[in-house]
Amino acid sequence: MATEHRTAHIKTFGCQMNVYDSERMAEVLAEAGYRLSDSADNADLVLLNTCHIREKASDKVYSEVGRVRAEAMERNARPPMVAVAGCVAQAEGGEMIRRAPGVNLVVGPQSYHRLPQLLQEMDAQAARGKRPHVVDTEFPADDKFDHLPTARSVRGPTAFVTVQEGCDKFCTFCVVPYTRGAEVSRPAQAILDEVRQLVDKGVVDVTLLGQNVNAYHGEHAGGPLSLAGLADRLAEIPGLKRIRYTTSHPRDMADDLIVAHRDNPKLMPFLHLPVQSGSDRLLAAMNRKHTAASYLALVERLRAARPDLALSGDFIVGFPGETDADFEATLELVRAADYAQAYSFKYSPARNACRRDGRPGAGGRQGRAPGAVAGPAVRPAGALQRRLPRAHVRTAAGATWPPRRAVHRPFAIHAVRSRHGTGRQARRYDTGAHRRRRSAQS
Ligand code: SF4
Repeated sequence: MATEHRTAHIKTFGCQMNVYDSERMAEVLAEAGYRLSDSADNADLVLLNTCHIREKASDKVYSEVGRVRAEAMERNARPPMVAVAGCVAQAEGGEMIRRAPGVNLVVGPQSYHRLPQLLQEMDAQAARGKRPHVVDTEFPADDKFDHLPTARSVRGPTAFVTVQEGCDKFCTFCVVPYTRGAEVSRPAQAILDEVRQLVDKGVVDVTLLGQNVNAYHGEHAGGPLSLAGLADRLAEIPGLKRIRYTTSHPRDMADDLIVAHRDNPKLMPFLHLPVQSGSDRLLAAMNRKHTAASYLALVERLRAARPDLALSGDFIVGFPGETDADFEATLELVRAADYAQAYSFKYSPARNACRRDGRPGAGGRQGRAPGAVAGPAVRPAGALQRRLPRAHVRTAAGATWPPRRAVHRPFAIHAVRSRHGTGRQARRYDTGAHRRRRSAQS
């Protein structure tokens, strides 16, 4: 069925990776003949690109689906087709359609390049008199980036570029390895081509994205290329002024990346480096595989290489078994790290349910019950995190980056919120797909 006059509205929840994915899905839909609309009113297709970071994330998506349909009915309009993409789609799969028949399409983050075929399948079902219900949450062996439109749309001087997806770390509170699959890095040449094209269209500032971006291990000119090497290649592009990346894991902060912060003038002096806790006992329970001391030692090395580095971090408050001493250790680390910005997240029991063995994680051990700490502890944590940016901005006021030449506009340093992923029940995630994807990589 022709789609020339159809309109689509995309609503994005969550992190920069989802913003990037929504932009790419918009490009796919435009190629398929859809006009993008800023409003869901009168849209033929409403696409919800979802995030699983929040507790009850799926409940919120179901209520959004109901709201979209109710608003259409209030206007006496035909309810739009509703597509759910992103991490909730991957986590819930076909269950979404059983719970909310108003959902017509469920598409996982690794399948959105197949949107035109999936929409055609919906049309075919509608032509047979059926209410369309299509699900695609596979981890296809083909690389979705090879099938996305090559022309990127640009909305100003900044742009996101995904360079890496997935995660092999399996922190016990995080769903990303299950919804985004194993770590995969895009070939450097594809990234360089994409950034050159963005710069030709006026972009001067790119943020390289990945769930574990500093684990980037691409290839270029027949050899391996790290994130530092990629940043160096990107810095050679005339017209590109600033390079950022997010989100990083402390264990993947390689020596060459620390050196790049010293030597690459286009690499911005900002780093989001989540720590999650200052308690070694809880870090072990979270499967973080670093300690508070190793994290602070890393921060020291980074600051030795780049004294004006603005650091931001995430930490979880109320992790199961957390004691007052654990919480105090976290506050102590936050002070010692001298963050420019820090984000505290109240632990939710659902987050911890994604252990590979399917059992609740650290709950039930000594210490407070899950969530019991959250009310009292979030307040001092919040007060501390609110003080940090004010202190940092005072020190950064008036600076411009890169410092060696004038930039097109004054640039005030800012921290970017970018933590990703929380859990649901492990048994619902396709760990088999994760393993298949990883072995396809090797
Ligand atoms: S928190 Fe980050 S490193 Fe840990 S599993 Fe999630 S994406 Fe991976």
